[in-house]
Amino acid sequence: MTASGKAQADGRKTVFITGAASGIGLAAARRFAAAGWFVGLADIDVKGLAGALAAIGPDNGVVCNLDVRHRSGWKRELAAFARATGGRLDVLVNNAGVARGGYLEAQSADDVDLQLDVNIKGVINGCQAAFDLLAGTPGALVVNVASVAGVVAPPRMAVYAATKFAVRGLSEALEAEFARIGVGVRCIMPWFVDTPLLDKARFSGNEDLRVSLRHQKVPIYPVEDVTEAIWAAVTGPRRTLHHLVGAQARRVGFLSRFAPRFVRSRLSRQVEAM
Ligand code: NAD
Repeated sequence: MTASGKAQADGRKTVFITGAASGIGLAAARRFAAAGWFVGLADIDVKGLAGALAAIGPDNGVVCNLDVRHRSGWKRELAAFARATGGRLDVLVNNAGVARGGYLEAQSADDVDLQLDVNIKGVINGCQAAFDLLAGTPGALVVNVASVAGVVAPPRMAVYAATKFAVRGLSEALEAEFARIGVGVRCIMPWFVDTPLLDKARFSGNEDLRVSLRHQKVPIYPVEDVTEAIWAAVTGPRRTLHHLVGAQARRVGFLSRFAPRFVRSRLSRQVEAM
């Protein structure tokens, strides 16, 4: 299935968001559409995409049935998106992601592969597939959604953290590479955010991540904090690469520069207590 919907961008600014059927991606889609942008809503969750299109208004975007793991899907969906936008792509938001917790030896091979394939290969695929469209759009940007787990890696999230460190590294290298073609890069690193992801991931046992975090009184930030950070990273005057979201993330980011062992051991104690 290719991007569907009859809407056309008609000169509006355009954004293509992966993982747009839920959580941060959906909230970001609403934020951009409310500001008058034309949105490519990409996800594997077809039912969720229909809801997302209804939420932003059918004239404000198209749905793209995309599994970010597959290069052929990226090519097909971006081509369809470009037909609706006259070949314009102002912002690519690589947001789709999955989280699986637990000690490394207890993670199934499928869960390891899924996190690597979606969280890092999916982002690389997107950056490669969108290169020509971005290069052809003056002032274009790539926004990669990593995590504070890409700054300090908690136990029982080793693979997830590895993928987020990788997204941060990829973003740093691409900032320099894409400067050649006039394309900016932003890397968004939120603390825990109130999205369905918290109900799907768990550190161990039967308790989902949301419940574990509540027990430990770990703050969970509203999704709007992330969408405002993305919006500011795209439209604001600051051209900084890294954007830590949430006071807790900024604290960890600051402390981990000067006292990394302290931050890691505190985080470890907190997670091991869950
Ligand atoms: P979410 O589960 O609400 O949404 C993720 C979306 O990605 C879903 O709609 C899902 O269908 C989609 N998706 C999964 N696999 C896909 C694939 N192969 N191809 C296309 N789409 C796919 O989660 P969220 O919290 O909104 O997460 C968005 C991003 O934010 C992720 O990269 C996540 O790692 C990151 N993040 C989340 C938190 C948090 O606490 N929620 C914190 C830091 C970073």
